[in-house]
Amino acid sequence: MHLIKSTLTLAAVLALWGCANTPGAGPQKDKTYYLTILHTNDHHGRFWKNGDGEYGMAARKTLIDQIRGEVSLAGGHTLLLDGGDVNTGVPESDLQDAVPDFKGMDLLRYDAMAVGNHEFDKPLSVLRSQRAMVQFPMLAANIYEGGKRMFEPYKVFDIDGLRVGVMGLTTEDTRKMVSPENIKGIEFRNVIAEARQVVPELRGKADIVIAATHMGHYENGNHGTQSEGDVEMARAVKGIDLIVGGHTQNPVCMKAENVVDKAYVPGADCKPDRQNGAWIVQAHEWGKYVGRADFEYRNGEFKLVKYALIPVNLMKSVKGADGKSSKVPYTELIAEDKDMLALLKPYQDFGQQKLLVEIGSTDGKLEGDRAVVRSKPASMAVLIGQAMMDKTKADFAVVNAGGVRDSFAPGKLTYKDVLKVQPFGNTTVTVDLSGKEVMDYLNAVAKMSVGSGAFAQFAGIRLVITGGNVTSATINGAPLDNNKTYRMVVNKFSAEGGDGYPKLTDHKSYVDTGYVDADVLRAYVSAKSPLKAADYEPGDAVVRR
Ligand SMILES: [Zn+2]
Repeated sequence: MHLIKSTLTLAAVLALWGCANTPGAGPQKDKTYYLTILHTNDHHGRFWKNGDGEYGMAARKTLIDQIRGEVSLAGGHTLLLDGGDVNTGVPESDLQDAVPDFKGMDLLRYDAMAVGNHEFDKPLSVLRSQRAMVQFPMLAANIYEGGKRMFEPYKVFDIDGLRVGVMGLTTEDTRKMVSPENIKGIEFRNVIAEARQVVPELRGKADIVIAATHMGHYENGNHGTQSEGDVEMARAVKGIDLIVGGHTQNPVCMKAENVVDKAYVPGADCKPDRQNGAWIVQAHEWGKYVGRADFEYRNGEFKLVKYALIPVNLMKSVKGADGKSSKVPYTELIAEDKDMLALLKPYQDFGQQKLLVEIGSTDGKLEGDRAVVRSKPASMAVLIGQAMMDKTKADFAVVNAGGVRDSFAPGKLTYKDVLKVQPFGNTTVTVDLSGKEVMDYLNAVAKMSVGSGAFAQFAGIRLVITGGNVTSATINGAPLDNNKTYRMVVNKFSAEGGDGYPKLTDHKSYVDTGYVDADVLRAYVSAKSPLKAADYEPGDAVVRR
């Protein structure tokens, strides 16, 4: 009697289970599946909101929880994916090896993330401990260590029989963007060749194929001297339904076919890119947005029903009647989640304390006072230039005086002192220029008015400027050669044309290294302390007459 009863119960359970959810059985015929993909990318240490209350993981959690609840009530499922580069960007995170950021992602219950190039900024031991810290996989099909894949290439999620495969890919440029020490014995194989192998394999196991990538979105596939991005991969490899991208840190919202809407305004409609049947999305950077893609799947057809980039407390400046400007949110404010705040607040407090710890010292004043740095060569600017050259192996540096906000007084130095000098969080960018291009650039910046923030400072180069024109330039002890290529490093503000500097962002060799200026200076100060102030005295390196 007992035996029969339990057999019946088991059969009943099996019948129910078979109907609702038999793993690997595939989707049911004539059933509509509702799948919502939520996505972020290029978080870059922004676990905490900024001074204006923008973004931050606490508000992100409220938003994601609310969407998950709504989708689930409507009978749908949600996957939360990230396009990589969780590491590097703000001192409070960098000083704690992004532990708060990864713990925050775990509390947000991410389902998978792509491995970004900045995941290799610190020694491998840091990356390994980050991996061990989280429940979700870090995916990268094209990274090999000792001939074997270093990360899982993909993960298949079974959603009531609907099999969703998520693969990971990482830009090959990682090779040239991180310290060789950190990637010894590690290969970054060609993303397209790798995708050509993995996509068909995954197609055999999944009904939907999603690529979580950290490769960049290049308009119409024009990737210049950088390695291939999402558009090029989608065009080259058939069978990808959706690419959740990162790396170029832009909202991928299209104005027309193959034309990106570069003037995208938070809260406006966003039409993702589509190439060869694959949707391509990217949610700008830093958790400024959560991307939401609502799909329907029925009898083999996968359809994007609705897409939105949802701003996370992004603010705009408005001028009041009194002429004063104030910040107002673009969209309705999102409250911060209490559990996330409880997790992150101790890290934020500790990070701020760490800013006061001694990082090095200087035996004399490094001159960065406004009146000096905007009118003649100054040692703080030389120090900043040298630090940027050291980090990027550039031949010379150009520093806009307005980007130098303070001096170092003789004695002990802290990260806070560094942040007083460079408070803007600009990234460091490089371009490889011909001798002729260098001369054109120098002639443009040499004309910037004395006394203005645009006034140009230099490191690694000797110049004679006669009546605003460069009449002599010497790099590495030799006169500038038109047939040679030189690497120049500047901050992103200048590269984007700030202060009227020549715009470099469209140059084919332009690379935004992602290294934050203050962090570059901090690392240099730590490595070279005690600094000898005399080493950075400009002397007669730049002569104006
Ligand atoms: Zn990146």
